[in-house]
Amino acid sequence: MPEIRVDPVHRTRVIVSSARRSRSLALRARLPVPEAEPCPFCPGNESETPREVFALRPRGTHRDGPGWEIRVFPNKYPALLPGGHGREFEKREDHIYVSMDGVGGHEVIVETPKHDLHMADMEPERIAKVLQVYTERMVKLAENSRVRYVLVFRNYGFLAGATVEHPHSQVLALPFVPPSVERELEGARTYREEHGTCVFCDVLEKEIEDGRRIVFENDKFVGFAPFASRVPYELAIYPRRHVPRFENLSEGEFVPLAEALKDVLGRVRDVLDDPAFNSVIHTSPVSTGAESRFHWHIEILPRITNVAGFEWGSGMYINIVSPEDAARHLRTIR
Ligand SMILES: [Zn+2]
Ligand SMILES: [Zn+2]
Ligand SMILES: [Zn+2]
Repeated sequence: MPEIRVDPVHRTRVIVSSARRSRSLALRARLPVPEAEPCPFCPGNESETPREVFALRPRGTHRDGPGWEIRVFPNKYPALLPGGHGREFEKREDHIYVSMDGVGGHEVIVETPKHDLHMADMEPERIAKVLQVYTERMVKLAENSRVRYVLVFRNYGFLAGATVEHPHSQVLALPFVPPSVERELEGARTYREEHGTCVFCDVLEKEIEDGRRIVFENDKFVGFAPFASRVPYELAIYPRRHVPRFENLSEGEFVPLAEALKDVLGRVRDVLDDPAFNSVIHTSPVSTGAESRFHWHIEILPRITNVAGFEWGSGMYINIVSPEDAARHLRTIR
């Protein structure tokens, strides 16, 4: 019997219909990204990218030269641009149509000099450094008074929208709070009004008690398949500690989070034949206030099935692998 599930945070409805699985779940191996030669993100090709704005590099190496460990620069084809100083942020209204200046920022974080090092094969200390760079760039980009939200995401594989294979993340500074985060804030607010508690904390407690959807646990983080997973093998990583902002990760949390990511992404790669995936960090908006009751988390969406007409047309999802089966399957290794 198919089951309709409602996500307690963003209220998305999902039809979990494992019966459809026999119809189609040919796991799709990751399609390679058709690549420019030479790779613009590899050491030695720094002149192929805009000038770096930040890099972890040992003494004796030079800006925009090789030798770096992690390198950050503005996206060559930015979705948004930093605003000119003193320029008014322009909002235009033409009768029914509203538009505004695409002010913000768009940066690329190259996570390693090694071209084909999967995050699952990186040392936790390296991943921890990448996470630390995320926090530094998020804080830096939020200094722009136009910026309302900083979104960090990762596209892995052609089907997930990656245009360069070399391991990298992107940071987008937006002049508004994106709708997916608005929905979560709204869901958290409603839940708090009804129950007096944080919905994310309660989800975590319920998941740990139930156990069927858990994929990874350490003393600081939990990785699990959400109850109303939108796509097969969707995963979430929640911090056990209630903290609104990812940027406020404490010194002792970087390595445990790196271990969680390494484990979870390794399972996705090894069990699912290295699929494309998107991951995103949901943190509190830049402005404080009511939003500070948010509980930051990471979402991981493997691109195994296509988003089809039903999803586009309804805003609902049909998921052909129940999250319980997905978690059980992902737990089978190690
Ligand atoms: Zn490369
Ligand atoms: Zn919480
Ligand atoms: Zn979220």
